[in-house]
Amino acid sequence: MGRRVYFPSVAFLCLSISGCSSGSRIPVVEQTKMAMGTFFTVALYGPVETHRAEEAISAAFDTIEAVEAWASGKLPGSEISLLAQYAGKETVRVSSDLDSLLRLAQQVSSASEGAFDVTVGALTHLWGFEDSPSLPPDSGAVDSARALVGYRELCRGPRGVFLPRPGMRLDLGAIAKGWAVDRAFELLRARGFADLVVDGGGDLRIASSSVTAGKRRVWVRHPRRAGEYFARFPLDSGAVATSGDYERYFLCKGRRFHHILDPRTGWPAWSCASVTVTGPSTALCDAWATAIFVLGPEKGLQAARRIPGLQALVVSEHAGRLYWEATEELAAILEVLDAQAVRGFPSSSLSEP
Ligand code: ADP
Ligand code: MG
Repeated sequence: MGRRVYFPSVAFLCLSISGCSSGSRIPVVEQTKMAMGTFFTVALYGPVETHRAEEAISAAFDTIEAVEAWASGKLPGSEISLLAQYAGKETVRVSSDLDSLLRLAQQVSSASEGAFDVTVGALTHLWGFEDSPSLPPDSGAVDSARALVGYRELCRGPRGVFLPRPGMRLDLGAIAKGWAVDRAFELLRARGFADLVVDGGGDLRIASSSVTAGKRRVWVRHPRRAGEYFARFPLDSGAVATSGDYERYFLCKGRRFHHILDPRTGWPAWSCASVTVTGPSTALCDAWATAIFVLGPEKGLQAARRIPGLQALVVSEHAGRLYWEATEELAAILEVLDAQAVRGFPSSSLSEP
């Protein structure tokens, strides 16, 4: 029988005030709310007027909920649901926000040679991780669903978006949360807030002022020990996202079946345990965390080095031991907290399918 375990968020941000003179406090107005199947926290730091801050946070949550409304494949009238309904039949007019998200998704798909692919919907629907499965689907069904995946077939044009074959469907699960974080973050910046954090279940966007500069640490969850952290690093501004095989999974015959699928095989991508990415926007980091996870440690880090502004940490597990590697800038500031973890990957692991 399979077993499923949920961990909460994949990374979290800590504003350490140890650098401040004793007793000093950084004022903050913050709110946490459930959205997109996770907890979102919006926090505004520094001397802000409470009423104005609360109003802005409420507008930020409206933005997040608006993204959820068009991005969800579960809401019957959403743009994503309509695209699935009209696949093979008609072009669907979509919001400019969804069109922009799909443009970014296509760029990441091309650069990752399809490791990241939002047309993966037929496969993710078959695996059905949201319904807590305990057995993998039959391999014939996996092959049929895999045949309905292909980012090159997604048509974006002036009249809208078209999925050319019946049964094709989009799944924005690997990018929409990051996209929502960015939209909320930009709204708050436009309203003049300069020191803030928007956190969508561990996918973050941060800006710091002189009040908080040098005090923020991002903590990366331990992929195998609930409640513990694998590493941490300082971050003043930018975005972070993590993809892990410990978020949604079941164990069956000693194998971990999890929700990040390799579109080329139709099966979970097995060569990483977690991937954390930092960069200029949360949507980009969210998409690349998934892409690198599917590409595996070696190819994934090579791809990350080619994307301007991107840094990545990859953790993988072999024979019960954790191995890690990171791109140079991140490695220079990273503090690995698991003393048993080994830097570098064993060569035998790199050719694993
Ligand atoms: P999380 O949802 O835990 O933040 P990810 O950002 O990696 O993790 O997104 C995983 C989700 O993305 C899956 O639940 C599924 O909806 C979708 N997905 C799975 N495999 C892929 C893939 N290869 N490319 C794009 N999306 C994927
Ligand atoms: Mg992702």
